Amino acid sequence: METVFFNGKFLPKNEICISPDDRGFLFADGIYEVVRWYEGFFYDMSGHITRLKRSLRELRINWPDSDSFSSIALELIKRNNLDNQPAMIYLQVTRGASKRSHSFPSPEVTPTAYAYAWGFTPEKSLQESGIKVMLKEDIRWSRCDIKSVALLPNTISFQEASENGLKECIFVRNGFITEGSHSNIFFVIEGTLFTHPESNHVLSGITRKNILRIANEAGIKVREEAVQENRIRFVKEAFITNTSAEVTPVIEIGGNTLNDGVPGQVTRIIQDKFDNEIKALKGK
Ligand code: PMP
Repeated sequence: METVFFNGKFLPKNEICISPDDRGFLFADGIYEVVRWYEGFFYDMSGHITRLKRSLRELRINWPDSDSFSSIALELIKRNNLDNQPAMIYLQVTRGASKRSHSFPSPEVTPTAYAYAWGFTPEKSLQESGIKVMLKEDIRWSRCDIKSVALLPNTISFQEASENGLKECIFVRNGFITEGSHSNIFFVIEGTLFTHPESNHVLSGITRKNILRIANEAGIKVREEAVQENRIRFVKEAFITNTSAEVTPVIEIGGNTLNDGVPGQVTRIIQDKFDNEIKALKGK
């Protein structure tokens, strides 16, 4: 039986009981994090904890265990015998259970915290071949910087992409490309790497942040600047980033083939540097 973390305890999953008055259930009033386990370490756990605390702060949810996320995650890996395989941790914290009302519970109630681990097989073939993605109007709210569990615009957009045989839906807001339904996106235009700057219209991806660092270290010119949809014809290469897909090349976007449908050179350099960083961390 899978062991999960629930409100301070490690329990068999079938013993978890969540109130129907939980504000996560009623209002999607909660936040989440997803961290990757690389057979021996969590990639940039401190970055995830910083983002977790920021999301909680922005929603004014007082969960006192943020600094214990690393030990909770490690315990989940151990208890589920995932030490020696690629795995992921999902953590969700909601404002807690209280009679339904738009105002926050007063006095405050105890937040509900749930985390679980699962082993997964990275989709290396897509990192090799690249993916085709859809373009669609960004129908999300204006606080995409908060890692909120309110993901309906993301899920319906991703579903549309999937049903069209595409691997991600990339959003366009006011003519500018923001990010994907569950990834950030980078473009290479005339040798310079572009990605949307941190703002309320994108999630500050942990992978995004590390790829920007890696690109800078590699001497690649970087501009945190949004790319206009109508500049796609000048795009030589593109790739998406997230915790599970790492760096995955994009070979077609909104029906436009990039680089004759093969992952580009800058993308390959960045993939290699990222892989080398993981190998080096594994060796420690
Ligand atoms: N943007 C969105 C909307 C996402 O859901 C994700 C994945 N959580 C990302 C970007 C990438 O974030 P990360 O690199 O931290 O996985």
